[in-house]
Amino acid sequence: MASSPGGIPSPQPSRANGNINLGPSANPNACPTDFDFLKVIGKGNYGKVLLAKRKSDGTFYAVKVLQKKSILKNKEQSHIMAERNVLLKNVQHPFLVGLRYSFQTPEKLYFVLDYVNGGELFFHLQREHRFLEPRARFYAAEVASAIGYLHSLNIIYRDLKPENILLDCQGHVVLTDFGLCKEGVEPEETTSTFCGTPEYLAPEVLRKEPYDRAVDWWCLGAVVYEMLHGLPPFYSRDVAQMYENILHQPLQIPGGRTVAACDLLKGLLHKDQRQRLGSKADFLEIKNHIFFSPINWDDLYHKRLTPPFNPNVAGPADLKHFDPEFTQEAVSRSIGCTPDTVASSSGASSAFLGFSYAQEDNDILDC
Ligand code: AMP
Repeated sequence: MASSPGGIPSPQPSRANGNINLGPSANPNACPTDFDFLKVIGKGNYGKVLLAKRKSDGTFYAVKVLQKKSILKNKEQSHIMAERNVLLKNVQHPFLVGLRYSFQTPEKLYFVLDYVNGGELFFHLQREHRFLEPRARFYAAEVASAIGYLHSLNIIYRDLKPENILLDCQGHVVLTDFGLCKEGVEPEETTSTFCGTPEYLAPEVLRKEPYDRAVDWWCLGAVVYEMLHGLPPFYSRDVAQMYENILHQPLQIPGGRTVAACDLLKGLLHKDQRQRLGSKADFLEIKNHIFFSPINWDDLYHKRLTPPFNPNVAGPADLKHFDPEFTQEAVSRSIGCTPDTVASSSGASSAFLGFSYAQEDNDILDC
């Protein structure tokens, strides 16, 4: 199994004075002491994700806590604000994690997210090594639907990998981590920031060429390949060799797959992005591919298809699908007990002006 060390965003130029002003805060009064922080359930580039229970109503959330200092040190505030912007739009889609609200203290940013406890696809894949085609098809279809939706909003996701694909308590896909999303890219437009995760980088990104939304379809191909074969395509422990393979090695598909699956992989993993499946009519091309012919897309979108695997979670406190490496870690006192105030108007806080955001709690998790 490939170990994916997380995104490798390259430095983005900071704004003139380091400030990003996204307008007035909708919920300036939220603060960390509103929650009991129960367990660490994941780690990202700039902080941790914790299982938290809101004291006022006992609702469970996954709270992503980011250290402003390390974000600013790496000049990554534009990525964080992009993540927040994309999360705000996610509530419209069944397979994207929902942001309930966010707030900040002088030192930290907090994203209050729907709590998803069926485990990472990476976790299940590691345990089972590979999936049969119907199961891979189901996850690939839900992921493609989410990516197609982001593209329809002119957003490129750029970091599709099994670690970012979570399963909910019923076994449906929930895509998370929008830190590398690029907003405002029209269908014919390109972008050029070198970012992603080594195993899943598209050739045009590696070549440092301008690239478009077809990079996400390459990544979908890499994830489908990994679901069917247990390793990403072109994988090597030696990263330089892997890059060489991605750029030049012809795609090798081990035997035992249907013609439809092979054709899908060849289409998505086409090294020339102009000939890649999805490069012309985007999600429509994926939807219409023969590999997905058993899928009724309307039923899929409305979650009327029964997931091929039920994570069987007993309730919110059931952490069996999270890595004990995280859940056994002590929840840092600083996360839950800081006598927090809302953002001050100077220093680190001012770089994240407008970060706070509140949304009506009308969609409580049922597991
Ligand atoms: P991220 O920094 O967003 O990549 O999150 C790091 C890890 O935390 C993910 O790979 C997940 O395992 C976990 N995680 C993130 N968001 C959630 C969520 N909403 N519910 C449960 N676990 C999550």
